Amino acid sequence: MAPNREHTLILIKPDAVEQDLHLTVLARLEHTVEGSRYVASRILQFNPDLCREHYSHLTEKPFYKNIETYMCSGHIWAAVLEGPHGMIPAIREDIGATDPTAAAKGTIRNTYGTKIDLGNGEYFTRNVVHASESQQEAYEEIRRLFLKEEIQNSAPEFAEKLWPATE
Ligand code: UDP
Ligand code: MG
Repeated sequence: MAPNREHTLILIKPDAVEQDLHLTVLARLEHTVEGSRYVASRILQFNPDLCREHYSHLTEKPFYKNIETYMCSGHIWAAVLEGPHGMIPAIREDIGATDPTAAAKGTIRNTYGTKIDLGNGEYFTRNVVHASESQQEAYEEIRRLFLKEEIQNSAPEFAEKLWPATE
């Protein structure tokens, strides 16, 4: 693996898959940073256990049940994007802030996301897309959702890094 390559997990959430936006969003994110490429992708379905692991930092929030219902409501497209150093923050910038109404104009979440005010300053959002916040978060998320076999043909060194051979 060339030094300085970064990897991130992209999830196209159920609201976007339902609106047939998955190809549009995946194609856009492949071009956000020059020199990026997808090394794996597949459709999957979250269940409550998987959702709780993926969003473990939010399970105590009053709106967690909304997130679970949303993320388990339909198909999700999961993709692993590989790119140069700095890709992770660049992708986060292109998708926009968590709250679509606070996200910059032209970002994916600002363009396609919806927000529901829950009162007390809390909100719940169907915001189209997930992208890992850090390299460490990406590694954990990719390991949870993909198998080594799904990645090793297109990115053998990365697969070896995430799932080191035991012998
Ligand atoms: N979320 C929400 N309200 C909040 C915070 C989060 O509805 O106040 C949902 C939203 O769908 C978000 C997801 O939970 O994308 C994960 O939250 P996180 O803080 O990790 O934001 P992200 O990394 O997705 O921008
Ligand atoms: Mg996050």
